[in-house]
Amino acid sequence: MVAGNWKMNTTPSEGKALVRAVMEKVPNPATRVVFGVPAIQLLGIQELVKGHPNYAVAAQNMHQEESGAYTGELSAAMLVDAGIEYVILGHSERRDYAGEDDDLINLKINRALKHGLKPIYCCGEKLDIRQAGNQEIVVGHQIEQALSSLDPEQISRVVIAYEPVWAIGTGMTASNEQAQQMHAYIRKMISNQFGSEVGNNITILYGGSVKPNNARELFAEPDVDGGLVGGASLEADSFAAIIEAVR
Ligand code: PGA
Repeated sequence: MVAGNWKMNTTPSEGKALVRAVMEKVPNPATRVVFGVPAIQLLGIQELVKGHPNYAVAAQNMHQEESGAYTGELSAAMLVDAGIEYVILGHSERRDYAGEDDDLINLKINRALKHGLKPIYCCGEKLDIRQAGNQEIVVGHQIEQALSSLDPEQISRVVIAYEPVWAIGTGMTASNEQAQQMHAYIRKMISNQFGSEVGNNITILYGGSVKPNNARELFAEPDVDGGLVGGASLEADSFAAIIEAVR
């Protein structure tokens, strides 16, 4: 899978033009392609991908409650009714700027699953943790808190995105070995808890400065099942090249 995370970029007209250009360049992608778009564009972009077997849309966030007095928020039911298939949850920018932690993200994941949405759960360590060699402890803890209450059927609908925070938007991509090592660790954790069938089949994306020039080798690692792409998803040529790097 290749998922783009546009963050707070593109106006509705720019977003439509971007999706049209990507779909024209890659009419039949060999993998699932997801556009993670700003809330105001969810319906408009969903209209463009509707009926396509391999293109889909993700929201970038969602509220944990069913409905109610939460000004400015989006509910799972709203996303589902709008035809949205995925929701990105726990992105490091939400953790940093909106104070989200894994307990809250766990509530959001549960709510999303209850409504049939597929969460793209983001985890990853900060630079000081990596420098101290504690990345597996920290990411392991994130996964345990956010996902351990799920049952095997629920976890099989979750996509995990490993995004080392030091690699996001910095141009400092994790090496292929660093990505592979963490992905294998995450897969082992999921297998230990939910069984090897679930572990072998769960999709684990790498995110953090994925670009056309590094995507192919990252995606070639045995436990890297694709990417969550920020900056390079905002330009049709580069996003198309990354989609085509999945084989
Ligand atoms: P980046 O962002 O590709 O610009 O590093 C990735 C992300 O935040 O998902």
